[in-house]
Amino acid sequence: MNFFSSDFKLGILGGGQLGKMLLYETRKWDIHTKVLDASAEAPCRIACNEFVLGSLLDFDTVYNFGKDVDVLTIEIENVNVDALEKLEQEGVTVYPPTKALRTIQNKATQKLFYTDHGIPTAPFSRFAYTTEIKDSLANGGIKLPFVWKSAQFGYDGQGVKVVRHEADLDDLPNVECIAEEMVDFKNELAVIVARSARGKVVTYPVVEMEFHPEANQVEYVICPARIDEAIAKKANEVALQVSENMEHVGLLAVELFQTQDDEILVNEVAPRPHNSGHYSIEASYTNQFEQHIRAILGLPFGKTDSKVAGIMVNLVGAEGHTGDVIYENMESILEMKGVTPHIYGKKQTRPFRKMGHVTIVDENMARAREVAQKVKETIQVKSK
Ligand code: ADP
Repeated sequence: MNFFSSDFKLGILGGGQLGKMLLYETRKWDIHTKVLDASAEAPCRIACNEFVLGSLLDFDTVYNFGKDVDVLTIEIENVNVDALEKLEQEGVTVYPPTKALRTIQNKATQKLFYTDHGIPTAPFSRFAYTTEIKDSLANGGIKLPFVWKSAQFGYDGQGVKVVRHEADLDDLPNVECIAEEMVDFKNELAVIVARSARGKVVTYPVVEMEFHPEANQVEYVICPARIDEAIAKKANEVALQVSENMEHVGLLAVELFQTQDDEILVNEVAPRPHNSGHYSIEASYTNQFEQHIRAILGLPFGKTDSKVAGIMVNLVGAEGHTGDVIYENMESILEMKGVTPHIYGKKQTRPFRKMGHVTIVDENMARAREVAQKVKETIQVKSK
């Protein structure tokens, strides 16, 4: 099939920043795109060929949107999978495949998938409602502390809470959930796998999340991770195991824990380009967005190696600031060598909202890390 400067149409569910960065690549290759999003101000709107305003969770909206595209992909998991399944049955190519998407969408079924396939993950119990956890605590089925995770629609920590006391449960929504053992981890790592429909796979180098010592928030995503070769190899193998068992097609970001005993456990996966791969735009031979397009169109894969050390800093809304956004000290960071800011195009900021990111590249990792810290201390996302 000819994808370039042709009648071929790629549908994308979701019009946020991941979609926007995917569209840099479709523009580069002149691939016709159609995007669905519920917001009239979606970052994708300016870069796609056709924009449809509508809910990603509504069956009819997603079904009607997908009917005239050749390949349908996503940039967010929370979409109506029943509609995707119907489209798939009617001959539309949907990647990630709906079967994998269904498994991933629900954290309980995702975790069950890992245990069913012998993939290492933290032990957990599944509950239809949060209130049922209390009975389980009373009869010794589970023990405090544990990590509560909403089975559906968790995003950016919203659906995750460490429960240390029984009373902590009272503040949580009464929804389907899992209670997961706390992992005493040394590192949080991630591996991005790209897999084609024919089962060809490539992986990106292991990345490491560096946390703020007090705020317990990821501050930097660092590529390559500063870990032993043996650990990197193990992380890579586990990520491949997940991708192959899921028969995934497209990009799969596998989030991992490295325990104190150097075990590798799968935390969760995302079946799409991911925050942990943003560094690749500046640091890799082939960035994750281009690779996703290559994977879902069955094109040869690009080289996943890095050209230089890469560090990514998220630009999130500062605390105490809500309203029309301004980026303070943007010029100062533009003066630093190897620094590239990305602004997603959201007009309104609010505390901790992901508004953009900055990539820092350098031949030398230690120097990149120093610059990253300077960037972090300099640029501020505030309201007017
Ligand atoms: P989200 O879908 O919000 O990204 P995650 O499952 O990735 O949720 O959890 C968010 C963060 O919470 C993780 O990055 C990790 O720091 C912490 N976390 C999650 N599960 C555990 C666990 N079992 N033990 C310890 N920390 C955890």
